[in-house]
Amino acid sequence: RLDSYGFIGLGQMGYQMAKNLQAKLPPDDTIRLFDLNKNAVQELAQEMKTSQAGGAIVEIAESVKDAAKDSDTIITCLPEPSHVKGVFADILTPDLPKKNNRIFIDSSTIDPSTSREVAKQVAAAGQGQFVDAPMSGGVVGARAGTLTFMLGAPDALVPKIEAILLRMGKAVHHCGIQGTGLSAKLANNYLLAINNIATAEAMNLGIRWGLKPKTLANIINVSTGRCWPSEVNNPVKGVIETAPANRDYSGGFGIGLMKKDLKLAIVAANEADAKLELGGRAREVYEEAEKADNCKGKDFSVIYRFIGGKE
Ligand code: NAD
Repeated sequence: RLDSYGFIGLGQMGYQMAKNLQAKLPPDDTIRLFDLNKNAVQELAQEMKTSQAGGAIVEIAESVKDAAKDSDTIITCLPEPSHVKGVFADILTPDLPKKNNRIFIDSSTIDPSTSREVAKQVAAAGQGQFVDAPMSGGVVGARAGTLTFMLGAPDALVPKIEAILLRMGKAVHHCGIQGTGLSAKLANNYLLAINNIATAEAMNLGIRWGLKPKTLANIINVSTGRCWPSEVNNPVKGVIETAPANRDYSGGFGIGLMKKDLKLAIVAANEADAKLELGGRAREVYEEAEKADNCKGKDFSVIYRFIGGKE
């Protein structure tokens, strides 16, 4: 049986994900592409059609509804909760042909409440099921097809969804019912937001005490302070060759995205009555840093510069 896919949101992540998915689908399957940015759609469709990798038939959709109406599986990769709500308001109109076996896979990082609300709307409209599958691995992982997905979905759907996601990533963790993928993602990114600031502070104080940056990082990375910001994304130039600190903090995970994820984590924590001692202050740090001329638009490890770290 032939399958048809819709892909909505072809930005930094979605573009690469859709490309990997299309290339790995059987040649009789169809993928329909949509983004408000028409250039991105044209460029991607052209790349897919001329690629040596073969893959599914490529079509350009005229609207989000056009991308969804005949598709069995619709993947969305959108910036914020408001975009996800807006796209589903446009899809779930009364004239959408009834199809209760559609699967909507939302890979956007949004808050679990919005995600659950949209899932309810999809179910109430009798238009299928909506699951959350946010990812980690960044643009590099999206391009290489090595993303890790955190899936919130009913058990019965997991094998089917896993097979689809593994065309874009290397691992799928089923976290539980719908919404739990986002809870896992936001808990992780909360920790990342704090670890990043703490690493910048610890590196700066060690260096000001007279330690060589590499010596300090090497010790932290075999000790109890070890974390991703210290080991992989160290904020001090010259410590980790591949880290954004070595290219004036360009590329990587943008400070704006970190601020967004932290905000979502704080909203979700409040709803769950989970106390966060450090969340509020960390949020202020990212907000202030994003406004600073020498930090805006940079990788989030630029916090080291923001706190006056020795460069
Ligand atoms: P992006 O801003 O590059 O892309 C979003 C795309 O959505 C854009 O092309 C935009 O035109 C499109 N869009 C917005 N509204 C639309 C609408 N109504 N209809 C159709 N298209 C619409 O964002 P991104 O970096 O690709 O991130 C997407 C999601 O993935 C975000 O939630 C982000 O937090 C998450 N994420 C990003 C990264 C990363 O490193 N960039 C890593 C993990 C997760």
